[in-house]
Amino acid sequence: MTREISRRDLFGVLGASGLAAAMGPFASACRAGVDETQKTSATIVDGKVVQPQRQLPVLHKTDVLGGGGGPAGVAAAIAARRTGVRVTLVERYGCFGGQWTGGLVLIVVGLYAGGKQVTRGIGEEIMCRLDKLDRGIVNHRPGGKPTVDAEALKYVMLEMIREAGVDVFLHCWGVDAIMSGNSVQGAVFESKSGRQAILANVVVDATGDGDVYAAAGARYEHLKYHFGLVSRLGNLDKIDRSKIGPRKKGQKGPNLGSITPIKGVNWVNMHGPNADALDVADLTRMEMNHRRQIWKSVEKLRNTPGYEKVYLVETAPQLGVRISRLLAGTHTLRFKDVMEKRKFADSVGVGGDWNIKNPEWQIPYGTLIPKTVDNLLAAGRCISGEAKMAELLRVIPPCFVTGHAAGVAAALAVKDSCLPREVDVPKLQKILKQQDAYLG
Ligand SMILES: Cc1cc2nc3c(=O)[nH]c(=O)nc-3n(C[C@H](O)[C@H](O)[C@H](O)COP(=O)(O)OP(=O)(O)OC[C@H]3O[C@@H](n4cnc5c(N)ncnc54)[C@H](O)[C@@H]3O)c2cc1C
Repeated sequence: MTREISRRDLFGVLGASGLAAAMGPFASACRAGVDETQKTSATIVDGKVVQPQRQLPVLHKTDVLGGGGGPAGVAAAIAARRTGVRVTLVERYGCFGGQWTGGLVLIVVGLYAGGKQVTRGIGEEIMCRLDKLDRGIVNHRPGGKPTVDAEALKYVMLEMIREAGVDVFLHCWGVDAIMSGNSVQGAVFESKSGRQAILANVVVDATGDGDVYAAAGARYEHLKYHFGLVSRLGNLDKIDRSKIGPRKKGQKGPNLGSITPIKGVNWVNMHGPNADALDVADLTRMEMNHRRQIWKSVEKLRNTPGYEKVYLVETAPQLGVRISRLLAGTHTLRFKDVMEKRKFADSVGVGGDWNIKNPEWQIPYGTLIPKTVDNLLAAGRCISGEAKMAELLRVIPPCFVTGHAAGVAAALAVKDSCLPREVDVPKLQKILKQQDAYLG
């Protein structure tokens, strides 16, 4: 009589090397095993679900650890690496770009101030690389609103990260900070490999939601903001205008979005209601409602004379979260300062005219530094601004700018053996300028 032998039985009988020998040519596909000694299931104790204490394997050690591979995290990782330290970038999904690719937010607004380009450096470099690709980007011209192709952008970001020599872990979700007192020493990640630690000298939180700084105990403001879900429509070049009657005065046509680099394909934004991006019930409700709403509105469009051939190419794989946490930094950027064009001696970059007509507003370094937690910098849409600033800070260009600055600052802190809050600001500004950033 034969008995099916489980992988666990085999490990027990042969040990790992014996197993590899026994499996011959298939060994490479089968060698990975589960270390049963690490299994620490949660249990119920006195009616409470309890997770036992356990030791975590250290997956990696690095100088600068970036959490989140959106526009800010990618800029930070490349900038830190170019400043000459070892850099590791960890992302929960399978590609880079964050909301820009996964959220299908293809259009870049706020690159210019009064017609002058104020976002330069790594963000501009990414867009110039897209220019060289067939159907990579449209409207990348002075004063324009460049719109990218998400697949081209995923490729360009991956290439730039690879060329810079950044170590990458995809499919890794940051779930905790590793602390020594009030100083961050790395982060804990959950993946198909289980729960593992990455140790770092300095961490840059570019998760968009400030997941790492919240876990580290940094203070922040928690906002409910409008959630959307972006989609793409196809066959817009096949609309039969002869079937569309004249519109009455003030009557709006259907929302067909705006152009992308692919002919006949538009991207359609969605404003959506306010919800809590840190509440899984809200995230689920928004995702389900928005998908249903998009399908039904496209169905309605297809039943409208002239629009029969239009179809839904895709909805974004990632829900459109705009804002959740805003850091309490050593400097909180105020809307009033922006409107009054206040200058900051520690400027690390400049924002443009999106939603305001106020050419050039500087972003001070203190907006990236938590008030109380050390060895940590924030970058992207979760940096320190008052709630009124969220609408300005969250668009892609300021995320490039703060990512770039956080990356250089983190690398400088490592090289000069100091805390991010002690970094020599003129030196930081000099390197940023050498890396083609514009500080105003
Ligand atoms: C619907 C919508 C429309 C928008 N329209 C525009 C527009 O027209 N123009 C414009 O310029 N901007 C627009 N924006 C804003 C812009 O897209 C984002 O604010 C910008 O992408 C933020 O960049 P970021 O790098 O800070 O964060 P994100 O783009 O959110 O990137 C964060 C990255 O971190 C990863 N991550 C998150 N948590 C973890 C974790 N715990 N562990 C590991 N990885 C993690 C995410 O997967 C993601 O890749 C829009 C946003 C939305 C939602």
